[in-house]
Amino acid sequence: MRDLSHVDDYPEIPVSLYTTRGVLLTGEWRNMRPYLAERRSACTDACPASVPIPRYLHHLAEGRLEEAFAVFTLRNPFPRLTGRVCPRTCEACCNRSGREGPVSIRDLERYLGEQTADLPHLPAGPDTGKAVAVVGSGPAGLSAAYYLRRSGHAVTVFESMPLPGGMLRYGIPEYRLPSRVVDAEISRLAAMGIGFRTGVALGDDVALADLEAEFDAVFVATGAWESRSMGIDGETLMETGLDFLVDSHLVCVRPPGGRCAVIGGGNTALDVARMLRRLGAEVTVLYRRTEAEMPAIAEEYRAAVEEGIRFEFLTLPRRIAKDGANLVVTVETMRLGEPDKSGRRSPQPTGETSQCRFDAVYSAIGETAALEPFPDDLKGGDGWLQAGAAGETNADRVFVGGDLVTGPATVVEAIAGGRRAADGINGRIGGGYQIPAWASEEHEGVVGPSDVNPATFPNSPPHHGVRLDAEHRLAAGLAEEAGTMDEAALLAEIERCYSCGYCNQCGTCFVFCPDVAIGWDTGPAFDYTVCKGCDICATECPGHVILTIPEEEAAHG
Ligand code: FAD
Repeated sequence: MRDLSHVDDYPEIPVSLYTTRGVLLTGEWRNMRPYLAERRSACTDACPASVPIPRYLHHLAEGRLEEAFAVFTLRNPFPRLTGRVCPRTCEACCNRSGREGPVSIRDLERYLGEQTADLPHLPAGPDTGKAVAVVGSGPAGLSAAYYLRRSGHAVTVFESMPLPGGMLRYGIPEYRLPSRVVDAEISRLAAMGIGFRTGVALGDDVALADLEAEFDAVFVATGAWESRSMGIDGETLMETGLDFLVDSHLVCVRPPGGRCAVIGGGNTALDVARMLRRLGAEVTVLYRRTEAEMPAIAEEYRAAVEEGIRFEFLTLPRRIAKDGANLVVTVETMRLGEPDKSGRRSPQPTGETSQCRFDAVYSAIGETAALEPFPDDLKGGDGWLQAGAAGETNADRVFVGGDLVTGPATVVEAIAGGRRAADGINGRIGGGYQIPAWASEEHEGVVGPSDVNPATFPNSPPHHGVRLDAEHRLAAGLAEEAGTMDEAALLAEIERCYSCGYCNQCGTCFVFCPDVAIGWDTGPAFDYTVCKGCDICATECPGHVILTIPEEEAAHG
């Protein structure tokens, strides 16, 4: 139970009521009935993977790591990965945000990931005799492979690169997501019996039709690995940012030195800029809109600014020319116009140009997918494959997911896409794994800020894992820039969670019930013989887990 000793503005429970218990059955007076109702928290609702966050945090707070891991992995097998790189849409919706700041959910997730790093995944389910091919080993493919194997199917992952992991390994830089962590997660999948065949490219080494013939189902998640062209003079003088990042994982990249420009405002652009900075370059990011429209994760932008990376906004490169060892970039100044179809204000030309000199220029204006290996009826006409909610396509056995369908998105969205496709495949070929009702994605409403009762929570600022400051980040090179919080910070941070929609047995209802009508064994139980339906338990419940309904409705079930 939570320590409620600081709550002193409520009257003590009159002793006389204790003595009436069993004599005066006040339950007969009741016209409203309290009951426990687990509902969806705002953070879970905002999580693309629908991780039941308050529930796993409760296990974590009580030191039940295996249970916390089991709850988490029902929805996302990789807390070690998303605990490092997730853009934290959950925190943006946390009901504590309006107070001292949201609960540091990603840091808590990282703690869970690290503490359970040596736990094996659940063993594969009973053998179904079915075999599924997964093409692409990014987060979408790995997630699908996990849930398919958990369902009892034989799973083989085909991957064109020398090592599995997709953008987790070859895109996101080492200092944010160390490859040793990716390796360990893949080993854990291999230990479940998932087979990996690397160096095999769909389209070149194996055709989709061959996989359809050989396997009961095929899940394809080959991502978005083609860099968009700018279509300007001198384009070939630039390197693409994605190639630079991939190379930096494959070989020891040569520090370019001097002055570098990176064109773009997304995740790739900022990772290229921050990586170049670590290799000793002076870096300028050229972006055609302003800070407000940048698609990059906000904390990446802040980190880049702290590390001394310059940003030239409303700046669009029009031409690149070589001048001795330098590249001369002619840029046009833009102004913001009306919103375009992305919802962001559009860049409009002003006709005003200027020139700047760099030693190297990298373009990172977005990625597209290679669609050659797919028949036309799988393509959506917008550059991506088209699929239903469970990744199903026009081809009976083919399911697709991840960036290949959504366009460049996030790791957690890819993980969710992989899981939904695994569920879709189970629906088609049979098999499955148990999903308890509380983990269902169907729900009757979300617990919002006006539902919760923060009164019994003391003020407490958020706790975070250690993060190096900019100077030490740059000095550390490719060493990981952030650390895992310690247990004391973890417990203090979980204490801040209102546990919206989930009974974490805080004991508030037990303490506040004036009729001693709440019994307690492992959690609240209502004694309806004495509960008068006064509603105090429901009003005081921090997470809005106790609701009341009219007796008449309760009587009719
Ligand atoms: P991918 O991760 O791209 O994996 C696709 C896999 O398919 C790859 O392994 C590829 O080699 C393989 N493949 C491709 N073609 C073939 C073929 N023909 N045959 C066989 N295999 C093939 N998201 C976040 O949430 N947080 C971040 O901090 C973040 N940072 C990012 C930084 C960069 C530089 C980039 C590029 C992306 C970042 N993202 C981030 C986005 C995230 O990485 C992607 O949304 C996610 O990896 C998509 O997963 P996926 O499985 O669909 O594809």
